[in-house]
Order: sequence, then C-alpha cells, then structure tokens
Amino acid sequence: MSDQHVRELIIIGGGPAGYTAALYAARADLEPLVIEGFAWGGQLMITSDVENYPGYPDGVMGPEMMSDFRRQAERFGAEYVTDDVTRVDLSQQPLRVWVGDMEYAARAVIVATGASARWLGIESEEQHKGRGVSACATCDASFFREKDVYVVGGGDSAFEEALFLTKFADRVHLVHRRDEFRASRIMVDRAEANEKLDFVLSAEVVEILGDDKVTGLRLRSTETGEQWQVSADGLFVAIGHDPNTALFVDQLEHDAAGYLVTRPGSTETNVPGVFAAGDVQDHTYRQAITAAGSGCMAALDAERFLASLEGHPGTAATAPRPEAAEVAG
Ligand code: NAP
Repeated sequence: MSDQHVRELIIIGGGPAGYTAALYAARADLEPLVIEGFAWGGQLMITSDVENYPGYPDGVMGPEMMSDFRRQAERFGAEYVTDDVTRVDLSQQPLRVWVGDMEYAARAVIVATGASARWLGIESEEQHKGRGVSACATCDASFFREKDVYVVGGGDSAFEEALFLTKFADRVHLVHRRDEFRASRIMVDRAEANEKLDFVLSAEVVEILGDDKVTGLRLRSTETGEQWQVSADGLFVAIGHDPNTALFVDQLEHDAAGYLVTRPGSTETNVPGVFAAGDVQDHTYRQAITAAGSGCMAALDAERFLASLEGHPGTAATAPRPEAAEVAG
C-alpha cells in the first residue's frame, strides 16, 4: 500500500519536539503528517506533575500537557497517524517512511523519536512508576521533601539526580551494583562531601515494596547474594537513557551511544532534508522545554530547506517577496 502523494514534511515522533515542529510546520502551511507513535506523548506520559514548563504556573500533568501540545498543532492542520514507523529509506528523494506495509513519501523528514530511560526491569517497578518510582529527579524531586529516597546507578546521571534530591529529601542513598563509580571524580567528590548523601555499594534493588506508595526496597549484595530490606519513600532509577534510533542508525550519522548528530546550531543531520530534534539528538539537557525549542528549530530548518528546492514555490516566511525581488533587481 502506498500513499501516492509526496508530502512536504513528515514528522516522526509525538513528544514535545515532534508536536512543536508540527505546530510551526502546520502554521507555515506545510501540512505535516505526524507519525506520532502508538504510545504518543513520549516520556511525559509517565511523569505526574510538570512544574517547570513555563506557561503553567499551577503545574500540569504530563499527559495533559502532551494532549495540549497535540491539539494545538492539530488546530492548524497537522495530521496524525497514531502508529509506529517500522522502516525508513532516506537514501534518495523523495524520502520514504513506512508504517507496516503503508508507505509515505516526503521531501523533508523531522526525526523526533526521543529517548527512553533505562529501567531496572523488575515487576514491582512497573507497578510503582509515577507513584514513588521515577526516572527524572528534575521532574519529581520536589515531591520528596523531607523524605528518605534511593537512587540507583553509578554514572554522572545518578550523581546529578542524587545531589539534586538532597535539596529536598532528608536522606538520599545511592545504590550502585559495583564498588567503583563510572561518574566523574568531581561528581563523586561533591557527593562524598554532602552530609545528606550516603552510598550502598555492590548492591542492587530486587524489589520495590508497598501497595499504593513505596514503603521500602529489598536489596541484594552483588558480592554475597545476601538480601535485606530498607524503608524508603521513593526510588529514582538513573541507569542511563537510550535514544530511540534503531530505525535510523544505518542511515544517519550518530555518536557511539546512538544519538543522532546534528550540525552545531542547527537541526540538520548528514542527509539533506532530514532534521533531528529533541532527546534523539540531545543527551545533555533532555527537558521538555529544550525538546520543544529544537522542534521549533527543526520546523524552521525544514521550511528553509523546502523553499530552497529547485522549482519549489517557497513559503511566506522564507521565500523573497516578489515585490522585494523587483526592487532589489
Ligand atoms: P552511564 O554513564 O552509562 O551510567 C549508567 C550507570 O548505571 C552505570 O554506573 C551502570 O553501572 C549503571 N547501570 C546500568 N544498568 C544497570 C542496571 N540494570 N542495574 C543497575 N545499575 C545499572 O549513564 P549516565 O549516567 O546516564 O550518563 C550518560 C552520559 O551522559 C555520560 O557520558 C555522562 O558523563 C553524561 N552525563 C553528564 C552529566 C554532567 O556532566 N553533568 C550529567 C549526566 C550525564 P556500571 O557502572 O556497573 O556499568
């Protein structure tokens, strides 16, 4: 099956970056098709209150905010396919994207498929996600004022999360499966100097205890296998993120961790007409607001690219106005 029409723009991904790109592109009359994913909304769908997105002074629930983003782009004509892209061919124009056996074609593509936090993969974790178990201290630390929380991981993210949590929680315990850290020395030094923080080394979390809320954890020594229980109000999993780039790694330039590489100061990838926005190309900031910002950049970059194509009529924002050209000429 094939959608015969070659579109101007296809956006892959339905998170803050994808919907912001869709909003700008739709308002520029590019009639974007957003293939938003079966589980649209991205990482914010597993976040409870979002208190750090400007414009929501009273905070907002993550899913509600994503629904607002989605509706706003739809209002200007963005079209949605609520399914997952299964294959892409970015080797020639038009660029092609498949959802199962349905083929779509476009002159420009914005990749905004985000990243996924790594989770421990234990059963009780699933049950407590968003209810005491989080993968984002920046989002959820303030709900743990004067509480006792654990952080899992031994890299810079875990240390950053643990240090941030000490501003709110009474006690923060960092659990790491080895007795050596992957984190940079400066982070370890800072953590060691922080009186609210302590370490549980050579240990892993095997179960999260509690019914409606987290009340404790069962830990296991990775050296002796011995298990013990601790009381806890929350658990932050900070064992890294993986960019959702499996579909693109053999076609777009990426770094060793799989993040797409964009030209500095732009969202251009190494393939003309293909742009990347949000967490799929950013392992540093990873915030909804920065993802939205780069989604806007990608739409503007795509708009300029389309206007530059030979024989393309251009758009109001980028093409020179005829009268201006006459005056100049
Ligand atoms: P990372 O460096 O890959 O560290 C992941 C940590 O999680 C490792 O200590 C690893 O243990 C542990 N881990 C992985 N899977 C686990 C599992 N299933 N159970 C228990 N522990 C597990 O990831 P990251 O900390 O997210 O950092 C990613 C990149 O971003 C790094 O380059 C980092 O330097 C950078 N970053 C920088 C900053 C900063 O400079 N401010 C902040 C955040 C991140 P092992 O050590 O045993 O493998």
